[in-house]
Amino acid sequence: MNIKKTTKNNGEDQNFEITLRPDQWEDYVGQEKIKENLKLMMQAAQQRNESCDHLLFYGQAGLGKTTLAYLIAKEMAANIRTTSGPILEKAGDIAAILTNLEPKEILFIDEAHRINKLVEEILYPALENRKLHLIIGKGPSARTISLDLPPFTLIAATTKINLLSGPFRSRFGATLKLDYYRLEDIEKIIGRSGRILGVTITPEAIRRLAQTSRFTPRVANRLLKRCRDYSQVHNKKVIDEEVIAETLTMLEIDELGLENTDRRLLEIIIKKFHGGPVGLKAVAAALNEETGTIEDVYEPFLMSLGFLHRTPTGRIATAAAYKHLNIGQRVTFV
Ligand code: ADP
Repeated sequence: MNIKKTTKNNGEDQNFEITLRPDQWEDYVGQEKIKENLKLMMQAAQQRNESCDHLLFYGQAGLGKTTLAYLIAKEMAANIRTTSGPILEKAGDIAAILTNLEPKEILFIDEAHRINKLVEEILYPALENRKLHLIIGKGPSARTISLDLPPFTLIAATTKINLLSGPFRSRFGATLKLDYYRLEDIEKIIGRSGRILGVTITPEAIRRLAQTSRFTPRVANRLLKRCRDYSQVHNKKVIDEEVIAETLTMLEIDELGLENTDRRLLEIIIKKFHGGPVGLKAVAAALNEETGTIEDVYEPFLMSLGFLHRTPTGRIATAAAYKHLNIGQRVTFV
């Protein structure tokens, strides 16, 4: 597989991701239904000697969307070019990429919800019937030319499917949702990453670490790496439960994987707004965070733990959140 990047690789964490990123299907843990669907689509395309249908992946950051795109490229023996929604500013940006595609190449666009209207409009006919319509010139002398594109596969990934327009969404052959991982899957991922990083980690420590990994492979790998740093500096040959506990305390991560900001968010709703309902903007102002970050990064995990509800009248902290933070019972005013 030949990887062409249209984006820059920046530094250590990228390398870390690349070494730990599974490059074989057997190492891609969990998400069984998605793998089954994809394998069938790829097999059918290969039998017809065609490129795979366009695919849309959605789900929280770090759940394995990019990894899937690379695995598909490998399976289809295709080159992959990667770019991202915010990088594509003008119609010309996407036109340049599309006209340079080789037959059967894969174009991966991350953060697809940040693709702007101009770029999206170029993509419609490209996805629909492999046509690129370009406007040459300006004013009365402007004319449209149409170019044929080679067969290619667009794989788009997003954390916010609701921000994609209906027409854009409908042009994908399959839309696949990646869910949070099961605990045993995260344990497998930590075990594998431990072997790659050359660390010895006890089964109990793996379990403990998995519990704090927000059911997300990227978080699991990141925490494992921090534990490796800790054990190395403290001359501990084995990562055991003690190393995990000490590393997590240092990082201010609790036993469920909540970080400082997660706890502050809940505390604000509980203490400042009597547990809610409270509007997102009010929470954002009190937390000094962007509303988008709260919606994308913090809330999904808190909701998955049952600590937070999004209701039409605002955010509500649940009784479970009160209990976890050790704050007295939720009082309901009538
Ligand atoms: P996303 O594109 O959804 O943000 P990535 O594909 O970049 O997520 O995944 C982040 C990291 O998590 C990868 O580099 C890889 O190491 C790990 N990872 C993700 N999904 C899996 C999986 N199913 N099995 C093993 N490791 C995974």
